[in-house]
Amino acid sequence: MKARQMIPINVPIIGEEEIRLVLEVLKSGVLTSRAGSGSMVAKFEEEFAKFVDAKYAVAANSGTAALHMALLAAGIGPGDDVLVPSFTFVATAEAVVLAGARPIFVDIEPETYCIDPTKLEDALTEKTKAIIPVDLYGLPADLKPILDFAEEHDLTVIEDAAQAHGAEYNNRKIGSVSHMTCFSFYPSKNMTTGEGGMVTTNIEEYAEKLRAIRSHGEKGDTYYSVMVGHNYRMPEIPAAIGLAQLKKLPKFLKKRRENAEALTKGLKQLEPSLAKLPKEPKGRRHSWYLYTIRLPWAKAEERNRVIQRLRSEGIAATTYYQTPIHKMPPYKKYPSRNLKETEKAAQQVLSLPTHPALNKKQLNHITKATKEAIKNISYHK
Ligand SMILES: *Cc1c(COP(=O)(O)O)cnc(C)c1O
Repeated sequence: MKARQMIPINVPIIGEEEIRLVLEVLKSGVLTSRAGSGSMVAKFEEEFAKFVDAKYAVAANSGTAALHMALLAAGIGPGDDVLVPSFTFVATAEAVVLAGARPIFVDIEPETYCIDPTKLEDALTEKTKAIIPVDLYGLPADLKPILDFAEEHDLTVIEDAAQAHGAEYNNRKIGSVSHMTCFSFYPSKNMTTGEGGMVTTNIEEYAEKLRAIRSHGEKGDTYYSVMVGHNYRMPEIPAAIGLAQLKKLPKFLKKRRENAEALTKGLKQLEPSLAKLPKEPKGRRHSWYLYTIRLPWAKAEERNRVIQRLRSEGIAATTYYQTPIHKMPPYKKYPSRNLKETEKAAQQVLSLPTHPALNKKQLNHITKATKEAIKNISYHK
């Protein structure tokens, strides 16, 4: 067989518009937005806030920085607890530790892999100050019961929407629902700036604090700090890329949805006992960052064999996340009771590409190869 190029799990799509705006920045000679110079970051923030229907958007130089500065803006620090899922990218819990607080891991809904609102009560401590729901794979967490719970216990909800640009909850854009929402623009994400992040909020006090924390705690003037901050500023070049990407985002999202539908159409011929396909519960609109299926019959080893088979067929299927955070060395010391669904999902899920660069032929190949691999490996197990 002829060596064939691997179909990547996600891929940035860069065009002339990005190149034109980046050149514009380079020619202007203004590379940073510090001290009010430069306009790309300000423009990008304005357009992004508009897109998610939020009053304020504050850009950062990564999604992790966005999470960290949101926690600091909410006043989270040493002695505080924050409820987080363990079934997510490490940055969700890492940001809590960076803020000096303690992550408490909460189990997930088995069907959506997002934090389970019914498990919050059990994890709550006297010191709990915030919750970070994650919109995993691009599907919004069940935010209404989470926000109700937060209100009842006076907690801040900082949503990790690093994978969910353009997703919606009860017809509201993700980014305008929680107290603060954090996005990432890492190259694999629904839209990219190379590296970058954003916090959106409707609360002015948070927006002000975020802007100060992003730049050494400076307020108004540079070289006058009112608090301890960081250098989490997004440079002008990434903001230029982001502006061009944001314009294309609706098209990207439409294509992701069409591709997910094509995958579902092909894969639904498999018995549910062989493969559980991703769901979109009522009121929760997916952004289809990843198309994640579950093999209910499999242990990690068998799931990994399915992935190996797909890779040999030129499909970069991957598991997000093989190791839940509470099992990683730096995080073992934090509370992690009853994470049964988390541990089960980590063994059984695998993600398939659904990104906008896929063509019909590739989609057909993915569904066909996935069906064959699952049938074959479940039969011989
Ligand atoms: C990508 C991601 C982050 C971190 O974003 P970076 O821009 O890579 O720092 C945080 N949380 C989740 C769920 C992510 O997928």
